[in-house]
Amino acid sequence: MKKDIVIIGAGHGGGMTSVFLRKFKYEGEILIIGEENQLPYQRPELSKDFLNGKISEKTLFIKKEEFYQKNKIEILLNCRVVSICKKKKEIVLENAEVIKYRILIIATGSSVKRLEIEQDNNIVRYLRNIQDSKVLKNKITSSNAIAIIGSGYIGLEVACAARHAGKKVTVIEIGERPMARTVSKKISHFFRDKHISKGVSFIFNTQLCAVNNKKENINLQLKDNKLIVADLVIAGIGISPNTNLASDSDIDCDDGIIVDENCMTSNKSIFAIGDCTKHPSKLYKKNLRLESVQNAVEQAKCVARYITGKPYPYNEVPWFWTNQYNLKLQIAGIIDPTAEYFLRGSYRQESFSILCIKNDQLLAIESVNRPSDFISGKKLIASKKKIKGNELCKSKVELKHFI
Ligand code: FAD
Repeated sequence: MKKDIVIIGAGHGGGMTSVFLRKFKYEGEILIIGEENQLPYQRPELSKDFLNGKISEKTLFIKKEEFYQKNKIEILLNCRVVSICKKKKEIVLENAEVIKYRILIIATGSSVKRLEIEQDNNIVRYLRNIQDSKVLKNKITSSNAIAIIGSGYIGLEVACAARHAGKKVTVIEIGERPMARTVSKKISHFFRDKHISKGVSFIFNTQLCAVNNKKENINLQLKDNKLIVADLVIAGIGISPNTNLASDSDIDCDDGIIVDENCMTSNKSIFAIGDCTKHPSKLYKKNLRLESVQNAVEQAKCVARYITGKPYPYNEVPWFWTNQYNLKLQIAGIIDPTAEYFLRGSYRQESFSILCIKNDQLLAIESVNRPSDFISGKKLIASKKKIKGNELCKSKVELKHFI
């Protein structure tokens, strides 16, 4: 079989690439190959409202089946690509079928990191896909005490869902504060205190050594000999980019498939987008590997533009969000531990922004229930405008006035 454009990975980025290609009037053949048995869907709600039972499965999908049929986008589901031969411009599927391409787009996303500890019967649960979320929802309902390993976004969002269901929740974290990799100390501490006020217990600075099944319960053995008893254990300890297909075929990788500003890999017929990539950021003057919907969607758009002859090099301010209880945290930019941090708004009213400023330049903004600060902050970061932190903190003046 030969197809004009082949996309490996029917996830958020893969699905959106096909949508943008048609939007930008690409008329050639498009084939998407995905190992999951679902049409492209959005993952964020898997740890939020879908896990809470507030929204249905059908709202997760990027497009309905009819969209792909109408737009002549072929999708092969339940099918894993096992290798790429860039010399012959072909890929091999797990059933040994060979497909030739003119352009290949790798959108293979990432995989959850797994705990490397002694454990009985793989009792630790993870969350990456719809099936995981459905299983977790049922398990949370039938459990009483839930242990969560890792206090990143996924761990904390699952903690919310478990508290929402009235369960006892203990979060075990190797570091000293939640979400430490991506948010400032002020935001970390604010969210830690919110979870505590909602009944979550944290154990920081510790490590899980073993998980064993004991009749009805699960024993979690911690480094300092402490023992936690739970009946459900969920780990959210990060992800690794799915780069194997690329690295096995000698495409440049370094903790992500290396792409240029048009998402082209070291082979000019092969592009890569989304969680599996590392791209050059002009703004931060370094290569970034991002794990976000925004990155997957913007890179999908960037590659579709390039292929349709309207290049628009990727140089976006990264942004992300998380919902925990009544708090919506929106983050734009990348925090720098050596920067200064300023508060705008009020912790008490749960409506504020933390501004990360270095050399009179806004590098990142973390807004809690303050979407207008977030939108203006994102623009200010992109503008690289010289600005004084004290000025921006004048809460009564809208941030948009500084742009
Ligand atoms: P994916 O959407 O993961 O798609 C990759 C697809 O490729 C997968 O279906 C995979 O099975 C398939 N694949 C891999 N290898 C092969 C192969 N060899 N052959 C065929 N198919 C293959 N981001 C946010 O911005 N905000 C959030 O609030 C947020 N919440 C999240 C909550 C959860 C529970 C999860 C899991 C993620 C969340 N994310 C969030 C991250 C976001 O969903 C990802 O960044 C985004 O899905 C990345 O898109 P992608 O296309 O790169 O990868």
